[in-house]
Amino acid sequence: MEDYYDLIIIGAGITGSALAYVASRYSDMKSILVLEKYGKVAPLNSDSTNNSQTLHFGDIETNYTLEEAAHTKASAERVLYYSKMLSVSERSKIISPVQKMVLGVGPEEVKRLEKIYSPEMRKLFPGLKKLGRKELQKIEPNTIKGRDPDEEVSALLSDKGYMVNFGLLAKSFHEKAKKAGVKTIFNCPCINVNPIEDGHEVVTPRGNFKGRFVIFAAGTYSLYFAKKLGYDKNLSIFSVGGGFYIAPRVLKGKVYRVQAGGIPFAAIHGDPDITNPKVTRFGPTVSFPLALEVRKGGTTLDYLKTFDFDIPTIQSLFNILFNKDILRIMRRNAVYPMPLFGKNLFIKNEVSKIVPSLTADKIYFDKSVGGIRPQIIDENKRFLSMGASKIRGNNIMFNITPSPGATSSLQSAMDDIVYISTLLDIKLDEERMERELGRFDYKHLKEKINGHKQI
Ligand SMILES: Cc1cc2nc3c(=O)[nH]c(=O)nc-3n(C[C@H](O)[C@H](O)[C@H](O)COP(=O)(O)OP(=O)(O)OC[C@H]3O[C@@H](n4cnc5c(N)ncnc54)[C@H](O)[C@@H]3O)c2cc1C
Repeated sequence: MEDYYDLIIIGAGITGSALAYVASRYSDMKSILVLEKYGKVAPLNSDSTNNSQTLHFGDIETNYTLEEAAHTKASAERVLYYSKMLSVSERSKIISPVQKMVLGVGPEEVKRLEKIYSPEMRKLFPGLKKLGRKELQKIEPNTIKGRDPDEEVSALLSDKGYMVNFGLLAKSFHEKAKKAGVKTIFNCPCINVNPIEDGHEVVTPRGNFKGRFVIFAAGTYSLYFAKKLGYDKNLSIFSVGGGFYIAPRVLKGKVYRVQAGGIPFAAIHGDPDITNPKVTRFGPTVSFPLALEVRKGGTTLDYLKTFDFDIPTIQSLFNILFNKDILRIMRRNAVYPMPLFGKNLFIKNEVSKIVPSLTADKIYFDKSVGGIRPQIIDENKRFLSMGASKIRGNNIMFNITPSPGATSSLQSAMDDIVYISTLLDIKLDEERMERELGRFDYKHLKEKINGHKQI
């Protein structure tokens, strides 16, 4: 017999797990099913080893507008709210305060940081502090040790530094959802999805499942399924792989770099590892893998299906691939994973800007970690767009989640559950949701929903 659910979520990464948690805790949905392709929660990009573990607030991300920074801050705060409900022992494994800054090296970057440190920015982030060479020497000594004394350097120090094990956070959401009655079937990939009279039917090798509402929280794969159903011809995915070099612990905290141009993925930075206090990770390196998953063959064809290859697609790809900043990043990064030669260049071009005294013999490229950021190509703009996207169809939704998708997982889940409850006859305990996860602008979101805008 085929099952029928109020909500089917495809994917048990952090996005799908946060949604399962929020839907089961704050709505009166009776039946929620999660279908996960692999055998565990958060096997891909949400796993702690595959991302940078940063709770992004928008204060040190130099490529965000003020509006994007404010939105990111609100999203990150929901994770803090959630973490406060956990026991001390669970919380300490999932989230840990850490020093965090953005470093400017050379006159151009120093000037950019000064501009970013505007009165508006300081109003949004009153705890953000500007640091000169002397303060840096005290606070993050290895950023100064061995540096040319004539080189200009400055930083913005955040008071909102946290590293997060997003894989464990996803597991925590999942466990709580499970206790509230959510069913998960692992090793159960969605192969197809078909509209039916009252919802959709999800086709898997383990049977077909009907859902009143279906949400794809399938990371890089969400757009592939959206396109299969004929949704959003104006978006494509630019898969940006991200890998990591591992070094001994040379930084106290997170040291980000000033971002080049309008590139939506982060420049290489140095981070401690929440799972191993003895190391600093440098990355993510950038690759363009023509795939939806790293370390797994056979996803190229599915990736290519996220493109329509019409004139806007081709113009967008042309603009991206011939953008001078992207070209520079591509040229440099192509060499970084190569043995010997790669790591010397990585030290020279990237690490030396952050930790000038670190030498190539102390670092190695860890091939077993890293993931894919599904950067969205907005074909209307003919270029990459910043952040995540939601494609909303008829009783179906597709979440595409580049960085900082893990930070915004609870925000995304709240947006989704408000959307579903507005469309279907589902009650939502808005008061409890706000009390536990922070204030929420329902009016603004509902207006957007009624206008059916893509948000
Ligand atoms: C190098 C790198 C660094 C990053 N750093 C940060 C950071 O510091 N901070 C931050 O906030 N974000 C960061 N991100 C982004 C963040 O990791 C992602 O946005 C987030 O993990 C996305 O979560 P997700 O659940 O949407 O996708 P995923 O974690 O990719 O999960 C998707 C799930 O869907 C499943 N799935 C796929 N297809 C199917 C199918 N057909 N049927 C069933 N299940 C399916 C997959 O198996 C997977 O479990 C980084 C990403 C990368 C790659």
